[in-house]
Formats: sequence, C-alpha cells, structure tokens
Amino acid sequence: MKTTRRNFILAAAKGSFGALAALPDASAQTAQPIGKQPGMVIIPEHKVPVLAEADVVVCGGGTAGIAAAYCAAKHGAKVLLLERWPSLGGMATNALVNIWHTSDRKKQVIVGFVQEAIERGGRFVRRMADFPRRPETHEFDSTGMRMIFDRMLQDAGVRIFCNLTAVESIVEEGQMRAVLVDTKTGRKAVRGKIFIDATGDGDVAANAGLPFAFGRASDGGVQGMTMMFRLRDIDPDLIKAHPEDAERVFTLMKKLRDEGKFPQFLEAAARSYLRSPRAPMVSYNMCPVAGNPLDEEELTRLTARGREQVYRYVNLWREQMPGFEEAEVEQLGFALGVRESRRIRGLKTLDAQMVVKAVKQPDALGHGFWMIDIHDPKGTGHTTWVEQKAETMPPVGESYHIPLGICLNAQLPNLAVVGRCISATHEALASVRLQSHCMVMGQGVGTCAALALAAGVDMAKFDIGKLQATLRQDGVYLENVP
Ligand SMILES: Cc1cc2nc3c(=O)[nH]c(=O)nc-3n(C[C@H](O)[C@H](O)[C@H](O)COP(=O)(O)OP(=O)(O)OC[C@H]3O[C@@H](n4cnc5c(N)ncnc54)[C@H](O)[C@@H]3O)c2cc1C
Repeated sequence: MKTTRRNFILAAAKGSFGALAALPDASAQTAQPIGKQPGMVIIPEHKVPVLAEADVVVCGGGTAGIAAAYCAAKHGAKVLLLERWPSLGGMATNALVNIWHTSDRKKQVIVGFVQEAIERGGRFVRRMADFPRRPETHEFDSTGMRMIFDRMLQDAGVRIFCNLTAVESIVEEGQMRAVLVDTKTGRKAVRGKIFIDATGDGDVAANAGLPFAFGRASDGGVQGMTMMFRLRDIDPDLIKAHPEDAERVFTLMKKLRDEGKFPQFLEAAARSYLRSPRAPMVSYNMCPVAGNPLDEEELTRLTARGREQVYRYVNLWREQMPGFEEAEVEQLGFALGVRESRRIRGLKTLDAQMVVKAVKQPDALGHGFWMIDIHDPKGTGHTTWVEQKAETMPPVGESYHIPLGICLNAQLPNLAVVGRCISATHEALASVRLQSHCMVMGQGVGTCAALALAAGVDMAKFDIGKLQATLRQDGVYLENVP
C-alpha cells in the first residue's frame, strides 16, 4: 500500500486503514534522541482516533465552504464542515467584509445559493439603492449573518465542527482518505469520500502535496491585507456639511503620511468616508498592511499593526474633522482581511484575458464579472479599483464563466478546492476572489460532489451537462455555455 504524509495510524471503529510510511529522512535522524534534532521534533508513530466521517468533508467555513456544504447536503450527501474559528462566514463575518456583488451592471447574474442567503438574511441583508446598476448590490450585517449561516447549514443537515483546524491530509493510493484536525483534546481524524478545501489558504490541498502558486510573478508578493473596522457616534449631517474640512483633513493625512508621521491608508476610500459616512452596515475599508498571511508571527504583528493604524486614523479625525469628535471604534475585524495566499494548481487556470474578455467555458458553474482588483502587495493602500480602467473589467452587461476546472486537479480526483485558493493567476484571482464568485464555485462543486458520489464516478467524470442542468434548476444563472 502506497501512503504519503506523516507516520500516523488512523484507528477507527471499523478498523484502521493503514500505517503511513515514515518520512524519508526520519530514520536517519533517530540516531539522536527524539526532540533533540536541530530545528525539528520527530513525532513518534501513534494512533489517531476518528472523530467523524461523512460522504463530503468541507474544510473551511467561509462563504465558499458554506455554499459547498449546503449544496452538497441539499443533494443528499452526508456532509461535515470543519472550521478553525468559533463562527462561520470567514472573511464575510470575522473580517467584516460585508458587501456582495451580484450584478454585471445591467442585471443580476449571480443568483442561486447567493440569492438564498440574501433572502434567508432578512433584515441582516439590504439591497443597495442603485441596484442593479453597480456590481455592488447588497450589504449585510456580519454579526447577524453568522447566525443565518448556522441556521442554513443546520436546516440542510450539515454537521458542523468549529474550533478545530485541519492540519494534515492523509493520501493513500492517489485518493484523499482523511484530514487530521487539531482539537482541544488532541489530534483526531475525519474521514470522507470527497474532500473540499475551502480554507482560503488551500491548507488541505497543499498538505496533500498538490502544487500551488504564491504571489505575483515579479516578486512573489501577494495582495495587501486590510484591517476592516466600524465606527459609532459619528454625526453624518455634520460630516456632510463640511466638505472643505474633509479636503483639509485628507490633505493633512497625506502630508503626515509622506513625512512618515502617519500610517498608510487607502486614499480614495478615506476621502469618501470624510465626505459622506458609510451606510450603517458597511465597514471602513481603508487600512492596509502587507506581508505573508501564511507566516503566523508576521500575521500576528501585521494584525496588531492594523489595529494601531485604525486608532491613528480615528484619533486624527476626532481632533480634526467635524462630525467625528465623539467617534469610537465599534468593531474591528476579529481577523485581518486576507485577499490572497496559495493558488492550488488545477485542471484549468483562470487568467486575466478570460476575465476581461468575458470568456465562456464549457464546464461553467456560473458567472463572474468583478474587475482585476489588485491591492498593492507593498501595502501602500493603492488599489486598481480606484482607476476603474476599462481593461480591468468585462464590459457593462457582460460576464465571464467560472469553470469547474479551476477547482479540480490532476492528482487527487476526490479533492476539490473552492474559494480564493482556486487555480488562477495572481491577476485573475483579484477578480474571482469576490465572495459572490466564491459562492458560485461552492455551489457548483458541492452539487457536483453529491451528484458524482451518487453516480459512483469521480467529479471530473460526472456529466457536465447534467451538473449544469441541476444548477439551473437550483436557480443558478448559467447562460451562453459553449
Ligand atoms: C479587506 C477585504 C475586502 C474585500 N472586499 C470584498 C468585497 O467588498 N466584496 C466581496 O465579495 N469580497 C471582498 N473581498 C474578498 C473576499 O472577502 C474573500 O476573497 C472571500 O471571503 C474568500 O472566501 P473563502 O470562503 O474562499 O475564504 P475565507 O472567507 O477566507 O474563509 C476561509 C475559512 O476557512 C477557515 N480555515 C482556514 N484554514 C483552516 C484550516 N486549516 N482548518 C479549518 N478551517 C480553516 C477560516 O477560518 C475561514 O473561516 C475582500 C477581502 C478582503 C480581505
């Protein structure tokens, strides 16, 4: 039996399914006592109890994972969702990223699961006044949506485990067999027939040995991150009545920043917030930091810096800007907003031309339309969305196809990825990373997983026409499939 990854034995109620081969260099290193090797601790072979098993195991409970778990369960699969944080929603709830984009600027082209979430959201989701003329169509209350996501998944029969992290992927004979999770009571195994990696960072796929890209071609930098925040006790009327003060404060911020006395900020956003405050639900998106989101120590430092930066902005505004005198930070992102990390290599790779030329694909799961919205990997706060150049976005009223091939891979037929870790270039990811687009992938892959299991075939071999017909029945907008 050929096995990979660490030397664990998975002990299940029905029996174990294989001791894994020792790491190639492990035996040579055991000449020294365990734990005394420089820079390394050798883990002795041990049994890992099976925590749970299911048909479909979804790792990561962000918008992509929620959609995948919900749709797989709706189509009859027994589904488990594993999430490291205490609540579901990923960036949407825990980083306060609370706008959904569903329109190609003429009509709504993302419907399906997204529309169900909008409707289930009730008073926690609000359609914007200029719908559908702008891509941004709905804002939502991140706190309320945590509860809505719980309810949706519970109603669909998904078994949810929060507070545990998927740390190892067990691969045997070219199939994913289990993920190992770290829990408060030690390491455990979760077994499944199909695994969907919705961790945003592609942890499960990378741990299973799938190849991935990281960062832009020129220097390996990933998109800048952002600490989102919400303010209370501001006076909107006073703010709107003082446009000249808004300009003065904005100029002061730039001057202080250029002198090194004030943090970076997203200029276009800051200027607009000073002129007219955000709609009640919408978070402030102006606080950039940059670095490697897969380096825990760096991420810790950057998250702390983000919090500091937010208070620097607020302190200056309290001193300088009418309407902000009493402003306080009501909420900071529980986590830093991460836009990009691993991009797992798939059967297909979405690229910038496919996005801007609105390319249609035979294995389409749905539509996307957002621009190539790159936040400067250096953390200056510059973003291409402020430029709104025609070549960064499909034309008004047009959209591109999000294909299944960016979620599947050539090595492991029972492992798919959804969300911001799919196969795309750095540029194309800057479009398809939107939550609404991630939910299109989640719905498509979750449905495909359930249908493929029922048919007894691999996901890549399932009849794409049948999958697309099912998605349409479930409300997905899917037009012009070649
Ligand atoms: C500041 C900012 C502003 C943005 N603005 C918008 C916007 O206006 N509109 C929009 O639609 N999109 C926006 N985006 C993009 C969008 O929010 C993300 O790309 C999207 O949320 C990605 O969804 P996801 O489900 O793939 O990943 P995530 O939302 O990151 O969810 C991944 C989930 O997996 C969990 N997880 C990670 N690793 C593990 C593990 N090993 N084991 C178990 N669980 C794990 C995480 O805790 C998380 O809950 C923005 C992003 C940022 C950062």
